[in-house]
Amino acid sequence: MLSDKVINELAAIVGKAEILLAPEDMIAYSHDATMFSHKPEAVVRPANRDEVAAVVRIAARHRIPLTCRGAATCLSGGAVPLKGGIVLELTRMNRIHKIDPVNRIAVVEPGVITFDLIFRVAAEGLLYPPDPSSMKESTIGGNVAECAGGPKGVKYGITRNFVLGLEAVLADGSIVETGNDVDGDMCGPDWTMLFTGSEGTMAVITRISLRLVQLPQTKKTLLAIYDRLEDAALTVSKTMAGGIVPTTLEIMNDRTIVAVENYLKIGLPVNAGGLLLIEVDGVPSTVEENALKISEICRQCGATAVKIAQTAEEAEDLWRARRAIGAAFGRVAPSKFAEDSTVPRSLVPELVNRMLTIQEKYDVPVFICGHAGDGNMHPTILFDRRNKDQAERAEKALEELHFITLELGGTLSGEHGIGFAKAPFLRAEAGETGYQMGREVKTILDPSGIMNPGKMFFYEGKLH
Ligand SMILES: Cc1cc2nc3c(=O)[nH]c(=O)nc-3n(C[C@H](O)[C@H](O)[C@H](O)COP(=O)(O)OP(=O)(O)OC[C@H]3O[C@@H](n4cnc5c(N)ncnc54)[C@H](O)[C@@H]3O)c2cc1C
Repeated sequence: MLSDKVINELAAIVGKAEILLAPEDMIAYSHDATMFSHKPEAVVRPANRDEVAAVVRIAARHRIPLTCRGAATCLSGGAVPLKGGIVLELTRMNRIHKIDPVNRIAVVEPGVITFDLIFRVAAEGLLYPPDPSSMKESTIGGNVAECAGGPKGVKYGITRNFVLGLEAVLADGSIVETGNDVDGDMCGPDWTMLFTGSEGTMAVITRISLRLVQLPQTKKTLLAIYDRLEDAALTVSKTMAGGIVPTTLEIMNDRTIVAVENYLKIGLPVNAGGLLLIEVDGVPSTVEENALKISEICRQCGATAVKIAQTAEEAEDLWRARRAIGAAFGRVAPSKFAEDSTVPRSLVPELVNRMLTIQEKYDVPVFICGHAGDGNMHPTILFDRRNKDQAERAEKALEELHFITLELGGTLSGEHGIGFAKAPFLRAEAGETGYQMGREVKTILDPSGIMNPGKMFFYEGKLH
């Protein structure tokens, strides 16, 4: 338990009302979007950078573990306060400081909801492309800390491609500024990228400069339906090999389609073996041409139907279906491993085949979806962890999936991060030298190990 002295010190900084200590709050803040949990001892809700720095200085002085939290939609356990201590909730820091249409830059605080930023910049004719399916809840701070991706990653890239600079509070409470508001900053190593994807283990991000792009003039959404998932996967590699870059190229297998349809009831093709949800954007003539070319590739690869959404509402329904996958899975089973196994695009068909084999071998349902266009697949194993036999089979299937992904030259995480959920496998991906380097860099920045302890390079074993 935190002493009264420490609690009073914290209250003097953020105000008593912004410290949560009630048992029910500790339960609420023990979770993220994984099935794991651990209770903190206090939740502290700072309003600005100086309050963050003062809280971090107290944590450093008393060696109290500190776990940052945005919206807690993390799928790798990053926001779970594994060692108790303080949860630093950053959602009060939700101001958009600046949208600069001339230089195409936005400067925001970490607690800004991703969708709010996308909505605000669209009004200026601009686009902030990273669009995680959780964007209506997730925060930009959480997106940067996890280097989030999203459907539009195929064409535009992921969060790291849009972060120009950061302000961050280091583990001793000092403040660092990295990068700046121009694209071509070549002054030494890219410290901005060191913190992007560092999952709250190295610093608290308190301000973010983001690159924006021109809002495309028009877009089209296509739905391609297949009898066989393998044909949908083949379409992905053929489309990308054909030199056409769609804005999005999302895949769903039969189980996923049924789960979403049961949840939303919007008329998805429940008898299909798989589907692709494709968007193209740009100037009208190119959009038209690319939509036709992609439709043709879909048919050549075995699509039984290719439908082009005729209205904005029809297109939005399809995207609503994509965004509802997480919630739909929640109705199927109480426990899940939601992965983001990412392989070179040309190997998407191979990964799909291997996932189907794993499903049979371990007799566990694998729900397949994901941003297939950039090789970022989301195999999700749904099970009930109270059933010991089922849980063991799910864990074995997961382990095999991770090693297959690495064998195919891929990565364990295309966007959800390592947290502790994937930490047992990080050494296999990073290699011994890379792993030790990760530990050393973290130790230099956080010698007392207070920043999000037990995660990434400092995983200490399984959470029960
Ligand atoms: C239904 C659903 C769909 C999803 N779809 C996608 C998707 O398409 N693409 C994708 O990439 N992810 C997706 N995710 C995962 C998740 O939404 C992202 O990882 C997101 O970036 C997390 O943002 P958050 O605000 O919820 O962060 P949190 O979960 O609160 O925190 C995530 C990590 O960042 C750290 N952190 C948070 N804020 C800061 C800060 N200011 N400074 C330093 N560290 C910080 C935390 O300590 C933690 O380690 C999805 C999750 C769900 C539940």
